[in-house]
Amino acid sequence: MKNIGQLINGKPRLENIAITKPVYNPATGEIIAKVQLASNPIINSAISAAKKAFETWSQVSPAKRCEILFHYKSLIERHIDEIAKLVTLEHGKTLEDAKGSIARGLEVVTFACNIPDLLKGEYSTQVSTDISSYSLRQPLGVCAGITPFNFPAMVPMWMFPIAIACGNTFILKPSERDPSAPMLLVELLYEAGLPANVVQVLNGDKNLVNSLIAHPDIAAISSVGSTAAAKSIYQQAALYGKRVQALGGAKNHAVIMPDADMNFVADQLVGAAFGSSGQRCMAISVAVIVGDERDNSLVNKLIHKARQLKLAAGDNPDADLGPVNNPEALERIQHYIHLGIRNNAKLVLDGREFHPVDNSKGFFVGPTIFDHVTSEMKIYQDEIFGPVLCVVRVKTLDDAIALINNNPYGNGTAIFTRNGNAANHFAKTIQVGLVGVNVPIPVPVAYHSFGGWKSSLFGDVHMHGHEGVRFYTKLKNVTTRWDWNDDVASGMIMPTHE
Ligand code: NAD
Repeated sequence: MKNIGQLINGKPRLENIAITKPVYNPATGEIIAKVQLASNPIINSAISAAKKAFETWSQVSPAKRCEILFHYKSLIERHIDEIAKLVTLEHGKTLEDAKGSIARGLEVVTFACNIPDLLKGEYSTQVSTDISSYSLRQPLGVCAGITPFNFPAMVPMWMFPIAIACGNTFILKPSERDPSAPMLLVELLYEAGLPANVVQVLNGDKNLVNSLIAHPDIAAISSVGSTAAAKSIYQQAALYGKRVQALGGAKNHAVIMPDADMNFVADQLVGAAFGSSGQRCMAISVAVIVGDERDNSLVNKLIHKARQLKLAAGDNPDADLGPVNNPEALERIQHYIHLGIRNNAKLVLDGREFHPVDNSKGFFVGPTIFDHVTSEMKIYQDEIFGPVLCVVRVKTLDDAIALINNNPYGNGTAIFTRNGNAANHFAKTIQVGLVGVNVPIPVPVAYHSFGGWKSSLFGDVHMHGHEGVRFYTKLKNVTTRWDWNDDVASGMIMPTHE
C-alpha cells in the first residue's frame, strides 16, 4: 500500500513512525494509501524553512516571480491528464469534471502572472510643498492554506499562486482525504523553477490546522471547508491576531420563475444539482419553484433527465456521476434520504435505487429528488453535500427571496427568468455572495473574486482576483519630503561625518 508523507522543498518526506489516515479509491471502496499526519518536528522545520525562504523570495522582483508562474502554467497544461487522474482516483469525480476544475484553477495562475501590474502602488505628488505620498503593498510572510476534499486541485490553486506571486511563502495543508493531486501540483512548481522551500505541503487533520494557527511564524490563514471548520478556524486565528479568510459550507437555491424556459432550466439544474455527485460548494441543492403549486412540469422534466444519468467509476467514459468520496459521506446522504421520508417530503426520485453501470462496488448513490420540501425540514436546513435536490414551492418572487435571505448560508444562488426586472430585483435584494441570472453555478472568473456571505464566509476578504492580492499583502504608506534648497535635505543627499 502506498504511503504518503509530506512534501518538503518539493521532495517527498516519509517518517518512520507516524499516525496515518486512510485514502480511499471511492469507486472501489478500497483503501489505496495511507497518509501520514505530519509530526511536530516536521511541522516546525517546514515552517522555519519557509520563514527563511521568505527573506529572499520576498525580494525577488515580481517580474521574475511571474516568469516562474508562466512556466508553471505550461507545466500544468502538459500534466493536466496526470493531475486529473489523481483527482479522480482519490476524490471519485469523473475525469472530465476533474479536468474542468483544474482548468478553473489554472485561470488563477494566469491571473497571478499579471502580478507586476497588480502590485503597482499609488503615488500623489505635492500633497503639500515638496511632500509626496505613496502607497505600496508588501507580502505578509509565511501564509497557510487549508483546503477541502471536494476540489483537491482547484481550491489550493485559488490560494498559493497569488500568495507566492505577492512574495509570500506558503504552507499548504490539503484535505487528508485526497492529498496526491495537490502534492503533484506543488512538485510541478519546483520543476518550474521555484526557489527552495517557498511552498511546503504538510498533511494532517484538524490538529495540524490548530498547530498552524497557533504557530508564531504563520502570518495568515486561508481556509475552505465546512461551516463548522470555517467558524472554528476564524475564531481561533482571530484569537492569535492572524489575518484570516475562512470559507464555509452552503445551501444554494435556484429560483425558477413561471416564465423561464423549463427545458433549459431542467438541463441546467440536473448538472448543477447532481454534477460531481452534489459535492460542490456551489451545487444547487434547493429548487424554488415560483407560481402554481400544482404545476409539476419542471419536476417531471427533472425526474426524467436525472433518471438517465449513469453512475460509474470516474475514469469510465460512460460515467455522468462518480461515487461520493468516502463511506461516512455515503452514510450521511443515506441518513438524510431516510430523514426526508420520515419528515413527509415527497421522494420522487430515489438515488438508492441507482446502480453503477460498470458494477463498481464503491460509495455510490444516485440522483435524489424530494418535492414539497418545507423550510422546517432538516433536509432543507442542513448541507447534505450529496446528489440530493429539494424542491420548495412558493407563491411569489418575494417569498423566494425571503426564504433565501432567512437561510443561514449565503454562498451561491441563481434565478431563471426571461424578465429583466425580476432578475434585477433578485440580484439587488438577495443576501448571497455569488448570484447567477440564468446561470446555475455562478463561479466568477479568476480576475473577479469568489466568496459567499453569512455562514458561508468568515472574514472580510474573498478569494482570488483583486481581493486575493489584497489578502496576501499589507498596505504601507510613505510620506516623503525632499527640498532641494534645504541645507538639511542637501546634507542627507551627500552625508558626511562632520
Ligand atoms: P471539512 O471542513 O471537513 O475539511 C476542510 C479542511 O479543514 C480539511 O483540510 C480538514 O482537514 C480541515 N478541518 C476539518 N475540520 C476542522 C476543524 N474542526 N478545525 C480545523 N480544521 C478542520 O470539509 P470537507 O468535507 O473536506 O469539504 C466539504 C465542505 O467544504 C463542504 O461543507 C463544502 O460546502 C465546503 N466548501 C466550501 C467552499 C466555499 O468556497 N465556500 C468550497 C469548497 C468546499
